[in-house]
Amino acid sequence: MTRLFRRPQEGRKGLWQKVVDLALTDVRVVVGGLDDTTLEELEERLLAADFGVPATLRLVEHVEDLARRGKVRQGRELVGAMREEVERILMDGWEPGLELADDPPTVYLVAGVNGVGKTTSVGKLSHRLRQEGKKVLLAAADTYRAGAVEQLRLWAQRTGAEFVGGKAGGDPAAVAFDAVDAAVARGVDVVLVDTAGRLHTQGGLMQELEKVNRVLGKRLPGAPHETLMVLDATTGQNAIAQVRAFSKVVTPTGIILSKLDSSARGGIVVALKEEFGLPVRMVGLGEGVDDLEDFHPHFFLDGVFRES
Ligand code: GDP
Ligand code: GDP
Ligand code: MG
Repeated sequence: MTRLFRRPQEGRKGLWQKVVDLALTDVRVVVGGLDDTTLEELEERLLAADFGVPATLRLVEHVEDLARRGKVRQGRELVGAMREEVERILMDGWEPGLELADDPPTVYLVAGVNGVGKTTSVGKLSHRLRQEGKKVLLAAADTYRAGAVEQLRLWAQRTGAEFVGGKAGGDPAAVAFDAVDAAVARGVDVVLVDTAGRLHTQGGLMQELEKVNRVLGKRLPGAPHETLMVLDATTGQNAIAQVRAFSKVVTPTGIILSKLDSSARGGIVVALKEEFGLPVRMVGLGEGVDDLEDFHPHFFLDGVFRES
C-alpha cells in the first residue's frame, strides 16, 4: 500500500473556525464551577453542532464522570477534557491521505444521494491524483441523468484523465466493467467510478449500485479498494441515515464531506465516527478543482475548542 499525503494549504487552517460553531468559551466564562446547568448547556451545544445523540451523551457522561471524581472542576478543565475525548474518537484509526493498492489499478467507488457533490468530488480527486503524477480514469456509471455523462467527461478533460462513459440509459454496471477493462489495458493507476444519486427508498437503484459494486469485484479481485460516501455537510444528522441506507448495499470505507465551506456544523464528523467507525477522509471546500483537502483531526479540534 502507498499513501499519498498532502499537507493542508496554509490559508485553509482557519476553515474549521468558520464552520464549527462550538466555541466553548462562553460556557467557560458563564460558569465558574461545573453543575447540572453547565452539563445541560454543553449537551445542547453539542447537539446543535451536529454531534448527534450517541456521541453527545457519551461526551457529556465522560465529563460528568471526571467531575464526580474531582478531575474536572472548572470550565477550562472541562474544555480540555472534552477535547481529549473527541481527539481520542477521531484519531482512532485515522490515517491521512489516499491509499493506493500495490497492484494498479486502484478502484474507488463513489456513492451518495443526489446533489451531494459526487461528480465534483471525483473531478477534484482526479486533479489531485494527476498532480501526484498518477494516470487516472474516470468512469461515468451515472447513466441516468441526461447531463451526467457530459459533466464527468468535462472533468476528465479538465484534469487530463482518461474517460469511459456509457450511453444515456445504459447499464451502469457495464460501464464500470468496461472502465476497469480499459484501465488494465492502458496501465491506469486509479479508476474513479462516479455513480448516480439515489435514495434508500429507490429499491431498484440501490440494487443497481449493489450490482456495480459486485461487477467491479468480479472484473478485478479486491475492487473497489475504497467505497467513498459523499455527504453534504449541511444536511446534518440526515447524513447518518444516508450512510446507514447505503451500507446495506455497499461497504463504505470512508467519507468525503462536501460543502464544508457553507454553513455546515462540523460535529457530524464525530457522529459518523462514533456511529459507524467511518473516518472522514476528505473535505470539500468549494466548487473549484483545488477545493478538496485531507481531513485533519487537529485542525478540526483547534476550530471546535478554540480559545476565544
Ligand atoms: P452529485 O449529484 O452528487 O454528483 O453532485 P455534483 O457534483 O453535481 O454537485 C452538486 C452541486 O454542488 C454543484 O453545483 C457543485 O458545484 C456543488 N458542490 C460540490 N461540492 C461542493 C463543495 O465542496 N462546496 C460547494 N460550495 N459546492 C459544492
Ligand atoms: P424506483 O423508486 O426504484 O422506481 O426509482 P425511480 O422512480 O427513481 O426510477 C424508476 C426507474 O428508472 C428505475 O427502476 C430505473 O430503471 C430507472 N432509473 C432511475 N434512476 C436510474 C439510474 O441512476 N440509473 C439507471 N440505469 N436507471 C435509473
Ligand atoms: Mg453526479
